[in-house]
Amino acid sequence: MQVTKPKVVVLGAGYAGMMTTKRLTEKLQPEEAEITLVNKHNYHYQTTWLHEVAAGTINQNRSRIMISDVIDKNRVNLIHDTVVKINKNDQRIVLENDEIDYDYLVIGLGFEKATFGIPGMDEHAFSIVSVDSSRMIREHIEYQFARYKVEEAENDHLLTIIVGGGGFTGIEFIGELAEKVPQLCKKYDIDRRKVRVINIEAAPTILPGFDQDLVDYARKSLEFRDIEFKTGTMIKECKADAVIVGKEEEEEEEIKAGTIVWTGGVQANSIIGDSGFELTKGKVNVDPDLRAPGYPNIFILGDCAWVMNPETGKPYPPTAQIAIQEADTCANNIEALLYGGQMEQFIFDDKGTVASLGGREGMGVVFGDKKLYGMTAKAMKNVIDDRYLFLLGGAGLVLKKGKFRPF
Ligand code: FAD
Ligand code: NAD
Repeated sequence: MQVTKPKVVVLGAGYAGMMTTKRLTEKLQPEEAEITLVNKHNYHYQTTWLHEVAAGTINQNRSRIMISDVIDKNRVNLIHDTVVKINKNDQRIVLENDEIDYDYLVIGLGFEKATFGIPGMDEHAFSIVSVDSSRMIREHIEYQFARYKVEEAENDHLLTIIVGGGGFTGIEFIGELAEKVPQLCKKYDIDRRKVRVINIEAAPTILPGFDQDLVDYARKSLEFRDIEFKTGTMIKECKADAVIVGKEEEEEEEIKAGTIVWTGGVQANSIIGDSGFELTKGKVNVDPDLRAPGYPNIFILGDCAWVMNPETGKPYPPTAQIAIQEADTCANNIEALLYGGQMEQFIFDDKGTVASLGGREGMGVVFGDKKLYGMTAKAMKNVIDDRYLFLLGGAGLVLKKGKFRPF
């Protein structure tokens, strides 16, 4: 007699989805559960490297990992399709080309840009949200440099790149641009002084809330490489070739640009809200065991979820680091649900925050309060990236995709 196995479906092959799937294959025997992973591409990508793809300092292929290279196809049913809707009440997932059902669901569909209703932002600005969107930025910047050389008209603004939002994504991206722009100037025979890279941040400082010493270090390092900052300056509108900005009580100013990239915020994949999950500031407040409130068989992980820090009562910032750790708790809890064990609560082990500033530059804080600057920070960032590759695909993946030098 054929025994029906419980169906565990994981949506999204990002950090949360890949690591949950990997852990489930390690914990459960083939006869214990049928595991399915659904992703819109046949590859997983290093979201944490997308700013490098966008600036063109690494090739997009470096950031991509074929899912079947690291997930055992004999253990996991890999579905290459796009999720359209989650029908929670029927326990069914609507895909673009099929429908599947589940007993246990893990949602790891990641983030999308949040533009907060700023007029023109959705239509005119690029964003760093996927390999494809990042590759477009690189190609657009290069196209603008090429165009500048052949057009007769006054067109210096084609060489202006505006990055809206000075959070970690915006700052890491301009760090890469600081390295890439001189290379492009050489390639297209353009005077570097004609190119402007402007970071616009609404808060009084870039990286609001982060350690002031490290923020000062980042700003100085970037200014030294000719990056301009406009802090305390809100982008109010985005046009095809300009942004409108203004400080609170001052007059508005239009800044013309050939490339506008929005790094001003992220929210959960809109499928979550469209499927009827209750959102708080764009994401779902999950229970301490990472389940969606009211849905005992649905886990929501990574950038789709807010997990509360019990010490501060505020949610942890959504990062790859937390998504990877959530995967362990989620896999343990699915095993507990299958066998009636004790559910565990997610405890975040904060290993610190390190940001690349392009080239050999970086800064960050690790082990609680140890501050790192320059090449040491950059080397640590590479160690963090390589550690993830090791967790996912062992030494082979580190050798294939890893970063071994601080530049
Ligand atoms: P994602 O990594 O976004 O994965 C979601 C997956 O779901 C993707 O594979 C996507 O293709 C798939 N998907 C989406 N929609 C669908 C659909 N409809 N159907 C099927 N599949 C779908 N965090 C850090 O901790 N350290 C860093 O250094 C760091 N650097 C960053 C640099 C940049 C440029 C950016 C943008 C973010 C960075 N972050 C960093 C944040 C981190 O990348 C995110 O928090 C992390 O990617 C969240 O992981 P996730 O698994 O939730 O989602
Ligand atoms: P974010 O929300 O952290 O930063 C967005 C920034 O844009 C904010 O500083 C905000 O003040 C600014 N902003 C918003 N509206 C604006 C406007 N109208 N005009 C000008 N500025 C405006 O978003 P992010 O940088 O994409 O980061 C998303 C998440 O990913 C965060 O949790 C972050 O910690 C994480 N991340 C981590 C790293 C790292 O650890 N190295 C790198 C990238 C991202």
